[in-house]
Amino acid sequence: MRHDESVPPTFRRPAVFAAAAIALCLGAAGCGGDGGTAQARPGPGGVAASSPPAPSSSAPVRTTPSPSKPPASPSAPETGSGPLAGRTVVIDPGHNPRNYLHTAEINRQVDIGTTHKECDTTGTSTNAGYAEAEFTLDVSHRLRALLRAQGAKVILTYDDDRPFGPCVDERARIGNKAGADAVVSVHADGSAAGNRGFHVILPALVRGGSADTSKIVGPSRDLGTRIAGLFVRSTGSSPSNYVGGNTGLDTRKDLGGLNLSTVPKVFIECGNMRDPKDAALLTSAGWRQKAAQGIADGISSYLNGQ
Ligand code: ZN
Repeated sequence: MRHDESVPPTFRRPAVFAAAAIALCLGAAGCGGDGGTAQARPGPGGVAASSPPAPSSSAPVRTTPSPSKPPASPSAPETGSGPLAGRTVVIDPGHNPRNYLHTAEINRQVDIGTTHKECDTTGTSTNAGYAEAEFTLDVSHRLRALLRAQGAKVILTYDDDRPFGPCVDERARIGNKAGADAVVSVHADGSAAGNRGFHVILPALVRGGSADTSKIVGPSRDLGTRIAGLFVRSTGSSPSNYVGGNTGLDTRKDLGGLNLSTVPKVFIECGNMRDPKDAALLTSAGWRQKAAQGIADGISSYLNGQ
């Protein structure tokens, strides 16, 4: 979601927190953070506004089974044979399901190059309490399995193995340190009901402090455009009707996870958890598999240059 990093997360139980999360986001102008979108924000800028997603026919779609649960992967090889052998992909599951229990830690300010922002945020949820952080982990597991099946080495920035975070700067460093060929940060949005669809967030040209995106703006745009086009094809979802002028692409300079990246990286907001129709999709395991497939297809298309 587009977090409100100016307002500390509230201590709530998860089901109750669900209601608090949207209040945090919708109730504040400039509701922003590492991921997501908002109402109090200028329209799409830069290359995104004039760059529609790649035609859906631009890359092949791979047919894979759609299990109702994420494929088990602990025993899967880290890398192997296949079209993505030798390539490294970092997947960044947005937020952490337990961030809300660690308010002080996630509110700690971190340097994102151009400014300072909170370490991490809590994320949003559906009205029924399905947390964005649970969604992002589930899609990330599915995506990992799909990419490993093509031979890629896949690293998650975290795997439900820590009490909070990682902080947004650390999330970026994990991709950098891995020398990733591509990084995707997985999110779902928390916007008003009626706002529907997905969008991919591209890094803007940013230089400041330790941030310099000049080398990743171009390849990240290529990566994001391919993901957007193939996400449409896999899920049947439409590009966002409230961000990006129906292109499914947005460009931002306020996200530490993008500003600090030195490798091609995009965020994807898979849908709006606060819209009932989108929520019905986001809570469907079958749809999440399609979402992961679309993202995997986009990454594969980018890495194969097809
Ligand atoms: Zn998010």
